[in-house]
Amino acid sequence: MKITRFNEGRIGVVVDDSHLVDVTGLIGQDAGEWPPVGMNRVIAQISTHRPLIEQALHTLRRIPLAQVVLRTPIPWPNKVIAYPVNYHDHGREMQAGYRADHQGFFLKPPSSLSGAGEPIQLPVVPGREVHHEAELGIVIGKECRGIKRDDWQDVVFGYACLLDMVVRGKEERVFRKAFDTFCPVGPWITTADEVGDPTALAMKLWVNGELKQHANTRDLVLDIPGMVQMAAAVMTLYPGDIIATGTPAGVGPVREGDTIRIVIERVGEMNVKVTQGDMGQTPVFAKPYAPDIIKQK
Ligand code: MN
Repeated sequence: MKITRFNEGRIGVVVDDSHLVDVTGLIGQDAGEWPPVGMNRVIAQISTHRPLIEQALHTLRRIPLAQVVLRTPIPWPNKVIAYPVNYHDHGREMQAGYRADHQGFFLKPPSSLSGAGEPIQLPVVPGREVHHEAELGIVIGKECRGIKRDDWQDVVFGYACLLDMVVRGKEERVFRKAFDTFCPVGPWITTADEVGDPTALAMKLWVNGELKQHANTRDLVLDIPGMVQMAAAVMTLYPGDIIATGTPAGVGPVREGDTIRIVIERVGEMNVKVTQGDMGQTPVFAKPYAPDIIKQK
């Protein structure tokens, strides 16, 4: 199943390449609620909702995807966990002396989440580059803590495309990655049963049609079972928590007017526009900085 949010927070199930159906009322959710935790509940109670959805699917009106605005599937997760330097080629291009397996994770604020239909708004940071990072997003399905590595699949709900946007610099990593719209996730969550084995998924990212990143999840330093286990070793994970799994080589700047396209095999494809916002000025980025990125073959 492919499940997402659209327009004013309605919950949709994607039925083919170009249509979704609105299941908000069917599964008793309120699109206008605050805080917007309907999807967290849907994920937590999926075993109740799924038969209802499957039974009603063919009776619901099909809405063209082109006529809706896709929002981020889970706007209010308990946390967004992110693993830094989790592909060796990205570590080499950044000349990073560490890898995620012995570094651990950081967190991105849930307020940085946006959806496929919402443009990235560049902050006003003259003298700085804002980079794309293509990543597979993992969505947690069950509350858990201290799980065994072999049990990782029991707690994973699904997967999505994720862009971990960042202002390059030497300042606090979280600060540089925290701006609104710096974590597009979507275009939907593809449930784990549809993805099958996620440990060898091809992932590509283009900017304006030019291929920039091309990798496979088999090349992750800390693999998917390891990431779930490591996060759950430290924190209780809750339904709707998101894990950004790290980016491969090929990161680079985006500018106003660009379109970022990310495709992950069996997960989805997301096209996100880049616009220039008028916020985000901060003395933290007063000094210009240009990253020294060593191109990888
Ligand atoms: Mn990243």
